[in-house]
Amino acid sequence: TLVVDLKDVVKRYGGSVTALNGVSLRIAAGEMVAIVGPSGSGKSTLLHIMGTLDRPTSGTVRIVGRDVGALPDRRLSALRARRIGFVFQQFHLSPGLSAVDNVADGLLYAGISRRERRQRAVRALERVGLGHRLEHRPYQMSGGEQQRVAVARAVVGEPPLLLADEPTGNLDSAAGGEVLELLHDLHDAGTTVVIVTHDAEVAEMAQRRVRVRDGAVLSEGSDS
Ligand code: ADP
Ligand code: ADP
Repeated sequence: TLVVDLKDVVKRYGGSVTALNGVSLRIAAGEMVAIVGPSGSGKSTLLHIMGTLDRPTSGTVRIVGRDVGALPDRRLSALRARRIGFVFQQFHLSPGLSAVDNVADGLLYAGISRRERRQRAVRALERVGLGHRLEHRPYQMSGGEQQRVAVARAVVGEPPLLLADEPTGNLDSAAGGEVLELLHDLHDAGTTVVIVTHDAEVAEMAQRRVRVRDGAVLSEGSDS
């Protein structure tokens, strides 16, 4: 089954900038894909469209089998909350909340009690090796720890699709390596993982690389 199915996707900003110029891309369940290309080539825009954070100017977007274009915003938000996890370069944790509360926020739309959200958040933090940091605030943690909290929050609801935009961009190589290892573990456990990166080492770890240039997909090789 396809988790991502884009056909002829065009995205223009303000009528003049064409960020994506007719992209077709299929990603099957269980794949680990790196989206690579120079700055400004359209990688983030592509990830935002896959994440239903943004709608295309034209073209078809199917995510986990749903035709996103046919869904009103409210249904789209629900789909996003339940089916898609996000990890960003800048962590995007709430500074005033402990690690466990940050992660539990990933379950706000899951329709479960506060107590169960907390229990699941604890398990997710244990899974990323931060069982000893439950009550720490972001500023009390290293960048690598913060990003692992962000990964825990992204996957606490067990979404089938995880999208990561330069997840190691603010980390040193040791901390970045740990985050990549986590993404690998999630992939091994069955999650479809898509990583935007301009880091060749990160791209190496994916099964498949999708090269983007000037808003178009250049090549999709499994070993190129
Ligand atoms: P990348 O992630 O590869 O750096 P982006 O998807 O961020 O590329 O950007 C692709 C192109 O779209 C660039 O020319 C960028 O300046 C432009 N762009 C991205 N977001 C916006 C926006 N919100 N408004 C206007 N132009 C944008
Ligand atoms: P950058 O790559 O420019 O440093 P990030 O990767 O941190 O930026 O974020 C990429 C984009 O995603 C930004 O435009 C940001 O506004 C948006 N974004 C960040 N967090 C969220 C979120 N939780 N939900 C939706 N959009 C977000």
